[in-house]
Amino acid sequence: MKNLECEFNNSDGADCWIEQMLRGMAVDDISTKPDQINRCVKCERFQTAIIRSMGRRKSDRLVPVVINKLFTTLSNHNTELLTMAGNLRRTVEELTVLKTVSEALLKASNLKASLKIFLTGVTAGEAFGLNRAVVFLIDHQKHSLEGQLGFGHIAYESYNRTWAHIKKKKLTFSELTEKILTENDTPDNHLTELVKKTSLPLKKEFGLLPKAVLERRSFNVNCLEERHLPDKRMFEIFGGRPCAIIPIISKEHAFGVAIVDNPVTVCEITSDEVSMLETLSYLAASKIDNLVLQNQLEARVAELERLQRLLKDNQNYLLETERLVEAGILATTIAHEIKTPLVTIGGYSRRALKSYERGNNISHDLNVVIKEISRLEGITDGVLDYSKKRKLSLKVINLNSLISETIEILQSKLTYSEIEVEMRFSESSLTVKADKDRLKQVLFNIFDNAIQAMPNGGKLTVNTCIDNGYCRLTISDTGHGMTQETKDNLFKPFFTTKDGGSGLGLAVSRKIVADHGGYLEVSATSSEGSSFTVSLPATKKEENT
Ligand code: ADP
Repeated sequence: MKNLECEFNNSDGADCWIEQMLRGMAVDDISTKPDQINRCVKCERFQTAIIRSMGRRKSDRLVPVVINKLFTTLSNHNTELLTMAGNLRRTVEELTVLKTVSEALLKASNLKASLKIFLTGVTAGEAFGLNRAVVFLIDHQKHSLEGQLGFGHIAYESYNRTWAHIKKKKLTFSELTEKILTENDTPDNHLTELVKKTSLPLKKEFGLLPKAVLERRSFNVNCLEERHLPDKRMFEIFGGRPCAIIPIISKEHAFGVAIVDNPVTVCEITSDEVSMLETLSYLAASKIDNLVLQNQLEARVAELERLQRLLKDNQNYLLETERLVEAGILATTIAHEIKTPLVTIGGYSRRALKSYERGNNISHDLNVVIKEISRLEGITDGVLDYSKKRKLSLKVINLNSLISETIEILQSKLTYSEIEVEMRFSESSLTVKADKDRLKQVLFNIFDNAIQAMPNGGKLTVNTCIDNGYCRLTISDTGHGMTQETKDNLFKPFFTTKDGGSGLGLAVSRKIVADHGGYLEVSATSSEGSSFTVSLPATKKEENT
């Protein structure tokens, strides 16, 4: 019965279907591991058992043929499935490695850390596990490839310190990358020292390294020849063995090239490994791309900040200069403005004195002096209003009521000047936080100017509304309007087109409105009249209570 012994099974025949059946095991309980089918179908004992189970009729002979056919097909499918499962497992493993490396790359904050993580990914046993890798980067100024970093060992017997240390410590890939990221700089190994001394011109005729960069493609060679790597030092290290040369390129830029080989395991690098290495180098290149962009951005931001500081300094300087110029103009204008009344006061005082000495009536001269003194007082008040920040006594006030009040005071003047008044008040309540007297002063100035612009009568329209958080009040007249020169100088202190005008009304008004956080502007002007708009921040709900 030698024939009936299953050559593939354990000595006790634990996996053998026939054994299991003979032992009386239920069909459902019989082990049907995937590779079991493959073994049984090739087993002589199994074949004999099938033939023995045949009947005597001719058709019964078909049974073993069919069973055999079925089993062979099943067995082939099984083999395919096992291969596919193996491939899938490998792909999952490779993807996991890529994920881990790309996660580590994300955390890298500079070029050297990115390169180290890339090389760790290529060489660490837990990742790709290739024995050795070296990176060259492009130097655009020199138009060359400059050696940067090497991971692995130079000769079979001399493992570099880093790997010996890693092996001893049994670091996982994540621990390894964490170490690279947290440590300031890991000590450079002997391979790196040699690589750093190597420079290759970035020209195709200087072998596969420049060619890989320039043609943006990888090379997988069975035996690296001198023409592939025309550098004595590097050829001594990599020459005469299989190796792969992978460009480090992103979609936009080429950064360098990596050369990898297996001097210890003496394995060729498979095409699958090459495509995974390409993906890994693409990840590293994209990271470098981002870092370069980030550096450029940081440099731009720093430059912008510098310019901003410069601008601010200049602005402060300009503001200061402007302020000084303005103060100078103001002082000259004041001197000019007060000169006339002072000369008049001086002249009339001396005349009054002489008249007094002669015993003449001096009341006329004194009246002129008093008039000029009150003009001087007016100028001083105006200058003070304009140049000093007066303390405001702020209260919530209703703008519509304030306008009505002011118009009422001016009513006799308006009637006398034959000016019709139209008030178009906004229906919503217009409340502002303001110093009532100061704001009244603004309204008086604007109304007064409007009345003076309509010597032959006309119409004064007052419009109020709320817009964008501001209470807006527009005062329009149908007066003579103003020239462009007047429009340009309206708000300058002492600018006036009127005989006896102070030219301070609008300058002071604008200052008062600005002190309230608002602004005063001439909103329209033509030969048919002018409009001035006062905008003041509307009170918020909580301020009204
Ligand atoms: P003043 O009234 O003393 O001249 P202001 O500062 O109030 O000083 O006004 C400056 C100048 O602006 C006036 O002299 C006048 O030429 C011009 N102005 C102001 N309001 C009006 C207006 N409603 N229509 C035409 N011109 C105006």
